[in-house]
Amino acid sequence: MQSPTLQDIDLLVVGAGVAGLTAATMAARHGLKVVVVDRMGVGGQISTAETIENFPGFPQGIGGHELGPLLHEQAEAAGAEFLLDTVEAIEPGRERHQVRAATQAWQARAVIVAAGSSHRTLGIPGEAEFLGKGVSHCASCDGPFFAGQAVAIIGGGDTALDEALVLAAHASHVTLIHRGSRLRAQHVLGERAKANAKIAIMVNTLVEEILGGKTVTGVRLRDVPSRDVPSGATRELPVRGVFVSVGLEPNTAFLRGVVALDTAGHIETDTMMQTSCPGVFAAGDIRKGSVALLAACAGEGTTAAIAAVHYLAMRT
Ligand code: NAP
Repeated sequence: MQSPTLQDIDLLVVGAGVAGLTAATMAARHGLKVVVVDRMGVGGQISTAETIENFPGFPQGIGGHELGPLLHEQAEAAGAEFLLDTVEAIEPGRERHQVRAATQAWQARAVIVAAGSSHRTLGIPGEAEFLGKGVSHCASCDGPFFAGQAVAIIGGGDTALDEALVLAAHASHVTLIHRGSRLRAQHVLGERAKANAKIAIMVNTLVEEILGGKTVTGVRLRDVPSRDVPSGATRELPVRGVFVSVGLEPNTAFLRGVVALDTAGHIETDTMMQTSCPGVFAAGDIRKGSVALLAACAGEGTTAAIAAVHYLAMRT
């Protein structure tokens, strides 16, 4: 990321995932001076997505490592500038908002928060201890380390199913462990996993502990309590890798007291992505009510950008 001229920023976008990159492109095309700040570089969560099959315009699918750079290129071509830093606070002002990051601060006339989410954890014994030693949140990053070995993936949403399918290309066997009786994921992903001989789907099952010595050797499971077995029977499953895909937590700790959040920490907005703080907008899965699919995140980024353009036009 290059260093932009930090004066007279019209719009500062926090987050360079699909929502932030799309917002930056749209706002820059409307003539705003746009700066995008991200702590990790561009791409956001899609950077680790092996194949994205449901983004409009790519009938054969597209790799996450390809889509992110394309969106970045488009935003830069429109005139947006990019910075690497971690935003830690937004202090709203009447004319300009102060945005403070770990190493610098900026004044911007409007802000779009598209800072996305982080992986939720289970909080079970062994999870933190074996992180990087058999426990992972990213199949496309760590799957090849488990070539020919048995692994487990925990969760029943789109991410868990996507990850199970990626893991099946490397592991000898993949057990998907879901606490519910029905998968939450898109039907097409569930059907694909069921058709894969390497994937077993275990429902109504809780993971109580991740077991191991120097590295992971297994998981201790408990059946979700039933009328027949009220305490739920326990057993162990030997695996060398455990992938945790149990959802996402919005990255909004730095916004507490600045904009209205719901009880889960998502940003509340109106239909134009305006938060409770004038001139601060939000887009993507950080937002309450977002369906969190990439196409929706691009749409929300677009709406937030147009709302910011109108907001600034009324103040000049
Ligand atoms: P998600 O949809 O929230 O699913 C999380 C899964 O983890 C659920 O099955 C949930 O179980 C389970 N879970 C949550 N807490 C748990 C716990 N403490 N113990 C055991 N299981 C637990 O999260 P996601 O799959 O990461 O997806 C996030 C968003 O991104 C979704 O909107 C999704 O559609 C989207 N996404 C889309 C794609 C795609 O389009 N290909 C790919 C990835 C993600 P319950 O079902 O019982 O609640």
